Amino acid sequence: MNQLICGHQIRDQLYVSLKNRIKDPIGFAIIQIGNDGPSDIYVKRKLAYANKFNIHGHHFILDSHVSEGRVIDLIKQLNHDPSIHGIIVQLPIPKHLNMRFIIDHIVPHKDIDGLTSINLGRMMTHKEPFFIPCTVKGCLAALNSLNEDFSGKTAVVIGRSLLVGRPLGLALLEKNITVIMAHSHTKDLVSLCQSADILVAAAGVASLISQKHVKKGGIILDVGITKKPDGSIVGDVDFDVVAPYVRAITPVPGGIGPLTVHFLIDNAVKAYENQKFQ
Ligand code: NAD
Repeated sequence: MNQLICGHQIRDQLYVSLKNRIKDPIGFAIIQIGNDGPSDIYVKRKLAYANKFNIHGHHFILDSHVSEGRVIDLIKQLNHDPSIHGIIVQLPIPKHLNMRFIIDHIVPHKDIDGLTSINLGRMMTHKEPFFIPCTVKGCLAALNSLNEDFSGKTAVVIGRSLLVGRPLGLALLEKNITVIMAHSHTKDLVSLCQSADILVAAAGVASLISQKHVKKGGIILDVGITKKPDGSIVGDVDFDVVAPYVRAITPVPGGIGPLTVHFLIDNAVKAYENQKFQ
């Protein structure tokens, strides 16, 4: 392996320029519904990182049996609150709630996760979205850190979710990369992956990717996060086995995760700037 793509290091390089953009108080809201274990950890990380910028993260915790109407009322209230520049609904949410319906109540200029139909649709139609999803921006920053032109290269993206895989596929297309989207129904994942100059694993399946999947000298972005019974966090890639064969790889933890959190705050600052100067 030639290069470990360290998310913490890239994030630290981006910190000062982001901090310098903040001139006034900024606030954003995280709506968490129910008590999904991993969500607690993610929310804490977002709030702690926001704190480093003196950005106020308002944490709303709603009961897991909350009605759709109550969630939407809260979103409407936050949409109109000038001290709240961005709104996030922490995913996943309980199954009795319609995720798409709820997310689409966030006004697009406060949708700092970039998950409303309007923002995702703008990505699809080449119209600059108000916000690009934070994990997508994290993956792009990881690639940019390699200072290469990826035009004409082949990327295989494993996972087709609206949160990660699909918008990332679109973003890579914008870089003139040939994109292959793989998912749980994909046949012969191994040979597909072997064609990948860039392999992005975002399936959430621990150790899905082993040495036989990777192209020698390829670039690997491991987005997946799985908490093992012993409490340790692992990615989708069997790091120790794969790393010796590739040119660059992100670790888990410490790869895409810290970058995702950074770009959430970056999006919150962008939201504030847009609302201030509109
Ligand atoms: P998701 O469950 O919505 O989507 C998973 C996708 O992977 C689906 O499209 C599914 O078809 C595909 N998939 C599942 N098993 C597969 C298999 N065996 N082979 C091929 N494809 C398979 O999950 P998501 O929200 O997209 O998140 C994916 C992973 O990324 C999760 O582990 C999540 O925790 C992690 N994640 C990490 C970050 C970060 O900052 N690092 C951010 C968001 C999500």
